[in-house]
Amino acid sequence: MERKNAWEKYDESGKKDVFEFSEKYRKFISSCKTERECVKESVELAKAAGYKDLYEVIKNNETLSAGDKVYAVNMNKAIVLFSIGKKPMEEGLNILGAHIDSPRLDIKQNPLYEDNGLVLMDTHYYGGIKKYQWVALPLALHGVVALKDGTSVEVCIGEKEDDPVVGVSDLLIHLASEQMTKKADKVVEGEDLNVLVGSMPAAKKTDDSDSENNQDVKEEKERVKANILSLLKEKYGIEEEDFLSAELCVVPAGPARDYGFDKSMIMGYGHDDKVCAYPSLIAQLESVKPEKTSVCILVDKEEIGSVGATGMHSRFFENMVAEVMDRCGQYSELKLRRTLTNSCMLSSDVNSAFDPNYANVNEKKNTAYFGKGVVFMKYTGSRGKSGSNDASAEYIGKLRKIMDDNNVSFQTAELGRVDLGGGGTIAYILANYGMNVIDSGVGVQNMHAPYEVISKVDLYEAYKSYKAFLKDA
Ligand code: MN
Ligand code: MN
Repeated sequence: MERKNAWEKYDESGKKDVFEFSEKYRKFISSCKTERECVKESVELAKAAGYKDLYEVIKNNETLSAGDKVYAVNMNKAIVLFSIGKKPMEEGLNILGAHIDSPRLDIKQNPLYEDNGLVLMDTHYYGGIKKYQWVALPLALHGVVALKDGTSVEVCIGEKEDDPVVGVSDLLIHLASEQMTKKADKVVEGEDLNVLVGSMPAAKKTDDSDSENNQDVKEEKERVKANILSLLKEKYGIEEEDFLSAELCVVPAGPARDYGFDKSMIMGYGHDDKVCAYPSLIAQLESVKPEKTSVCILVDKEEIGSVGATGMHSRFFENMVAEVMDRCGQYSELKLRRTLTNSCMLSSDVNSAFDPNYANVNEKKNTAYFGKGVVFMKYTGSRGKSGSNDASAEYIGKLRKIMDDNNVSFQTAELGRVDLGGGGTIAYILANYGMNVIDSGVGVQNMHAPYEVISKVDLYEAYKSYKAFLKDA
């Protein structure tokens, strides 16, 4: 059951389409590194495609009908989009889902300290990372600081060409003989992922007449920190106390790059799972007056178990389906349940792509390969499929026909050899409604490393698969 290389089916003009789509994606992930940034950009793209804010529609007591398009944002960190179809929603929705959070270092609530003339910020890592990969790299700070007056300040340091970057230091090899004997999970420990942000003291006060004042003595001792705080005050209008209500993420600095002499791949931060979220979003925006209502849900918190108000476990999705049905004059509790049960979903997340350097973690017949198209995973999980949504054979049969009818290259895979490890996605959560869900997505090398790699043609086949699914499922 050899799968063909998807590049082979494209002539020069077809390859041009692949590269053009990939370039838009490369730009998207270069500026949208956090879930908040993804939501903000998604709203811009949605508005440009004629989408209206669902909350406004409700407030104005407007109704919705086939051909209308609405979106709803959840706490600035998740978004759901609906393109209302011709059929009653009760017959089921065609749903695309993916997550927009990625592993990173989060700044702690009380982060800033000075140690021997250096100012650092304490972090707590987010998601599953190999901690030793996050040292000696140019890093950027993205996020928001919420102020007591109800306003928020957006922070982004390290992305513009003349911006400074920050980083976590590594131990020099010359003094690492003890460190090099440690297990990989202890080589760099979580509490030591401290980000260096400054080393220059504030200018000395000219008037030191009341130097016996304790506060002044302390300030004298922490003059580098004082300088950093005054810079933050000047640029963002924030004070040290404001870190208490901030969400600041430390992520790799700089844009994603074309990868390989042939530029057939992209190396960048956060392919997991923007490489599925972006093509899902674009396919959704291009779905106009479909037969069945098209839905795209992009969620937060997948990397830490899909928990909380903005994760897939939240009631947000179900509530928004109810609101849209209500605006369409189709709501009842029973109809909502039928709608969810009769729906179909492509729950998209990355899969590990075959890597010749680590070939023995895969069973070669059931592994994703770069260039072989969108990946369908019947099940994920670990230790005997535990924790997995196991898509039904009948549903996969239907999807095979849709993909073949629309000339979409696809492959099937598992995440590695049996009992080597495993992983979960959001698929099982939606499956609780009794709907048909399958894990699908794009193969990635270096998953969860600061710089991950994907194949451009796989990204493009994913986009085509989403278009085909919204049209024909
Ligand atoms: Mn993922
Ligand atoms: Mn992940």
